[in-house]
Amino acid sequence: MRRGARSGLFTMVAVHSTVRGPALGGCRLWHYDDARAAMRDVLRLSRAMTFKSAVAGLPLGGGKGIILAPDPAGPTRRGLRADALRDFGDTVEALGGKYVTAEDVGTSARDMEAIASRTSHVTGLSRRRGGSGDPSPWTALGVHEAIKVCCERVFGTPALRERTIAIAGLGHVGARVANLCAKDGATLLLTDVDRSKRELAGDLGAHWLEPDAALAAASDVYVPCALGGVLDHASAVRIGAPIVAGAANNQLADDDVAELLAQRGVLWAPDFVVNAGGIVNISVELEAQGYDPRRARTRVRGIGDTLQRIFDAAHATRATPLDAAMTLARERLAEAQAAAAIPRA
Ligand code: NAD
Repeated sequence: MRRGARSGLFTMVAVHSTVRGPALGGCRLWHYDDARAAMRDVLRLSRAMTFKSAVAGLPLGGGKGIILAPDPAGPTRRGLRADALRDFGDTVEALGGKYVTAEDVGTSARDMEAIASRTSHVTGLSRRRGGSGDPSPWTALGVHEAIKVCCERVFGTPALRERTIAIAGLGHVGARVANLCAKDGATLLLTDVDRSKRELAGDLGAHWLEPDAALAAASDVYVPCALGGVLDHASAVRIGAPIVAGAANNQLADDDVAELLAQRGVLWAPDFVVNAGGIVNISVELEAQGYDPRRARTRVRGIGDTLQRIFDAAHATRATPLDAAMTLARERLAEAQAAAAIPRA
């Protein structure tokens, strides 16, 4: 944690694990009430990145960055954002490659270019700069793959033609998932708190629902693509679909909800497996051959194989998909730890 020389703002980086490779995780530009709350958040988020990358089989560890934005209601000045991004770049550089940053809530590919003026340990640069660009299409591709795998398990076919799919949140990821499912001929039920998104429903010939109605609507797949915490003990018993697979982070209000969903016969695809498309794409940017979208597409589609493996393990061990995913991540971390302990000949 450092105070930026230019901006005077605090910048933080948490490195949770480098066992499988450099700790990769986005840089959040966010206002917190105090630095302790930000510290707790950056530690929690960096740990989650370790498991997300490990379960996806990526040669990456878990990290996260935060720039503590000033109170939005308070005084600010021109150029503060650019200064803060450069300060954050210095913090990243000070870690000498243990941490690699990327875009996250409150930052964009353009911001990564400002950070890149101070450090080379930055990903998600624009395609023009040799980077992998916007992660959202890749996240959407992974979600689409996950939906098909879940449908194959529950209905015996991955085809979406006969399926009714309810998507909540039509932002960067959700709108793209809707497009992909529409191309496959699915019947769509769409919702967003932003009513301007209703236009997309019209364009795709989809039905529009009010946000409160989407979770309980009779459908084959419920796809949360808005905020986290949507599945708690009250909402889990109201779900109208036998499958939940979506991009939203931290969908479960607490881990016990995974058990409740399994008891109710709802197949829940763990969010940190389903929404890994963005980071899988970034990992291709870090490969020695340089970025190649075709390689990225193949890798992102691998999310489907990972999910199959998790569902098979959950079935075989009578565990929830959440437990099976965490077990796979821990095994992959232990393997990397053991390999690092073996002295090279
Ligand atoms: P976004 O901000 O572009 O879109 C979110 C959409 O959800 C917005 O249109 C918003 O109006 C809508 N929304 C908010 N609350 C809602 C509610 N209660 N009901 C219905 N709609 C609501 O975000 P995004 O980039 O599309 O990401 C969506 C989710 O996926 C987030 O949880 C994000 O953390 C997660 N995620 C995104 C990526 C990525 O590549 N963008 C990667 C991993 C995880």
